Amino acid sequence: MTRALFVIDVQNDFTEGGALGVTGGAHVAKAVTDHLRARRDRYDLVVASRDWHSPDGDNGGHFSPEPDFVDSWPTHCVQGSPGAEYHPDLDASLVDVHVLKGDGRPAYSLFDGFVADGRPFGEVLAAGGVDEVDVVGLATDHCVRASALDAVAAGLTVTVLTDLVAGVAAAPSAAALAELRAVGVTTVPSSGAGTDSPGGRA
Ligand SMILES: [Zn+2]
Repeated sequence: MTRALFVIDVQNDFTEGGALGVTGGAHVAKAVTDHLRARRDRYDLVVASRDWHSPDGDNGGHFSPEPDFVDSWPTHCVQGSPGAEYHPDLDASLVDVHVLKGDGRPAYSLFDGFVADGRPFGEVLAAGGVDEVDVVGLATDHCVRASALDAVAAGLTVTVLTDLVAGVAAAPSAAALAELRAVGVTTVPSSGAGTDSPGGRA
């Protein structure tokens, strides 16, 4: 068994004070770092994604001056801007693979992203032989949901660590977790995950 951690979009624009700040986002940044420092040996691979939009145009209708907050959003996570950076409480030195998504188009899922050498993330993941993943980050009702669904579709065994995610809104976040459970995703607090041996190779 090869286990990865997916850290979804823990960026300044998705945390308090950002363009699309999620309540609890900064807490998630710190808590994910604490989790990784305590449990780094649980993971063979740590992957972090960032929404990374073009400064030009509306990124395929993703940006709007009159956003509906469903399919269109205020300008956020523009490439090279402070809002696109990881939240400072996320220790990015603990991350093995950095994924960028949303260059010129909407991209909610980590699987829509690319790594630094230009390869699609799915290709990198398959090459690593990953078959199990824990998913954490922002936001539960959007990019965490989409990434977890794609992880299931990719054939992975998926767990969402419920104390290490935060959502835009409560009801859609609860609905997203229910939807994920319905397709076989385990949703548990981080304290309940991984009572198995270090490295997960038992
Ligand atoms: Zn976006």
